[in-house]
Amino acid sequence: MEALGMRIPIADPDIGEEELANVITAVRSGWISSAGEFIIRFEQQFAQYCGAKYGVATSSGTAAIHLALAALGIGKEDEVIVPTLTFIATANAVTFTGASPVFVDSHPEYWCMDPNRIEERITKRTKAIIPVHLYGHPCDMSAISDIAKSYNLLIIEDAAEAHGAEYKHQKVGSFGDVSCFSFYGNKIITTGEGGMCLTDNEELATRLRKLRDHGKNSARAYWHDVIGFNYRMTNLQAAVGVAQIDKLDRLIQKKRAIGALYEEALGDLVQQGVIKLYHEMPWSKSVWWMYSILIEDSFGKDRNEVAEELLNREIATRPVFYPIHTMPPYYNHQTFPVSEEISRKGLTLPSGLTLSNDDITTICSLITSMSQTR
Ligand SMILES: *Cc1c(COP(=O)(O)O)cnc(C)c1O
Repeated sequence: MEALGMRIPIADPDIGEEELANVITAVRSGWISSAGEFIIRFEQQFAQYCGAKYGVATSSGTAAIHLALAALGIGKEDEVIVPTLTFIATANAVTFTGASPVFVDSHPEYWCMDPNRIEERITKRTKAIIPVHLYGHPCDMSAISDIAKSYNLLIIEDAAEAHGAEYKHQKVGSFGDVSCFSFYGNKIITTGEGGMCLTDNEELATRLRKLRDHGKNSARAYWHDVIGFNYRMTNLQAAVGVAQIDKLDRLIQKKRAIGALYEEALGDLVQQGVIKLYHEMPWSKSVWWMYSILIEDSFGKDRNEVAEELLNREIATRPVFYPIHTMPPYYNHQTFPVSEEISRKGLTLPSGLTLSNDDITTICSLITSMSQTR
């Protein structure tokens, strides 16, 4: 249950004097709209951090995914494979282009799309796969890339929740034809609202920039040869972003420390089999964007009851995402049992950047006291 003014919030940003100083510089410079020094620096520094050549900053993460799909020519009649267990924006961005999202079930250990479930969903119309690095844990990129290669499919990474996460020591955002990030207020780093597309392909970067800016022709002023969007980021947002990049490694360390503390403090309940954690796979470095657990039936209380009791102590939690195929815009008759089970049992615990060790101890002892099998 998310709400303002909780004693322990679900996720809060780490912003301060450095961000403020950059914003003041931007305001004083007069460059407050979507051109300026900070935009250029933010795009270059973030791309470099992730190991990609080009960065194209956008107004949101959703805009970044839509822009990537549009620049790759995805449209009507096309199908794009997405996990059903993700934030709804992943599927909506596909729908915006006129294409259809085709859902895939989750892997039971690490909750991202299960590579073994992809091939059965490929048809003649399939054009692309969008792996989502869910809750900061990377997808199995080798397995997904192999499938994409053999069926000639594009890969668009949705790394909105996974800045700095690594697959086999390589940062996410460097695997896709285009990779997309969000800088919404609760993400690993933030610009308030914002997003970015990364790519190594110069031509694609140019097309992303053109479509971001109303499809403007670069050679002939106010001539538009395609329908584009206004998906630009402002220099004010990028000013915040530049300061956030400097903190990114420290923020990731903090997220990983939160994950490790939860794992330790919930160890007894895991031993008893009444809760289950999602695992960091041996090939991955997760950034634990939002630490989530499964409340097993043997716990004695269900996920909603646990959330309710924590809320009574002013501790904010969230249910894990609802599988997209179970919600009205995307209802269909398929079942994806792994995602459905994770969603039914999944509880996201406070994971904010100002969370203290004492907060974690408090939360875990409350949860332990709720379990009736002690
Ligand atoms: C947050 C998020 C998005 C969308 O980002 P916005 O900046 O909120 O538009 C897309 N995909 C996933 C997986 C997300 O978590």
